Amino acid sequence: MNLIFLGPPGAGKGTQAKITSKTYGILHISTGDIFRKAVADRTELGKQVKEIMERGDLVPDNLTISLVKERLTEDDVKQGYILDGFPRTVLQAEKLAEFQRIDAVINFRLSKEEIIRRLSGRRICSGCGAIYHITDYPPEVPGICDKCGEKLYHREDDKVEAVEKRLEVYNKQTEPLISFYRKRNLLYDIDSSINPENSEQQIMKILDEINK
Ligand code: ADP
Ligand code: ZN
Repeated sequence: MNLIFLGPPGAGKGTQAKITSKTYGILHISTGDIFRKAVADRTELGKQVKEIMERGDLVPDNLTISLVKERLTEDDVKQGYILDGFPRTVLQAEKLAEFQRIDAVINFRLSKEEIIRRLSGRRICSGCGAIYHITDYPPEVPGICDKCGEKLYHREDDKVEAVEKRLEVYNKQTEPLISFYRKRNLLYDIDSSINPENSEQQIMKILDEINK
């Protein structure tokens, strides 16, 4: 099963992709995570993308597409995968269609107000990547991960100006993918405004239906 998780920042794609990948035994491929790791490791790629990401812009298509293309040639993708955060532009979607068969696109729907509220309160563990929210999912000890004890941080691009920028980029560049995939009969909407458990149930229902 080859899936795409599509949606605005803060809709919970990453959280759900981790869960779905475990439940169905398929890979989770997050371009955002790949880029963030490159930045943290100070690789050549990381140097190229650091500033772009921090201001909430998109990494150029050529760079992103070749990265994903390469990742999808590895052996482990045969078990199926979830693309989380890719494609994000029509060009990326067109290129992907040239060399991969996609079974379904899950479209996470969420209002702008809720996006801003979620992202500004989101905190990430520097050790294991676990995701918290200062009021919705606070850790037991403020600033410290329940799972591994490492410090939590506020992503540079989760700060207000960058969030506004990411929303603008999403509306302009990524939202057109909704009709792109709807036309191809691949799009399944979920309402991601309720809570993670509810989103998970909606996704499972869709995937179980597809797998019948
Ligand atoms: P979000 O929380 O907004 O879904 P991600 O973690 O998926 O963010 O991505 C963080 C940043 O990484 C993006 O704002 C962008 O700069 C870069 N990035 C990730 N995926 C892509 C992509 N497919 N195309 C271009 N840039 C990307
Ligand atoms: Zn942790």
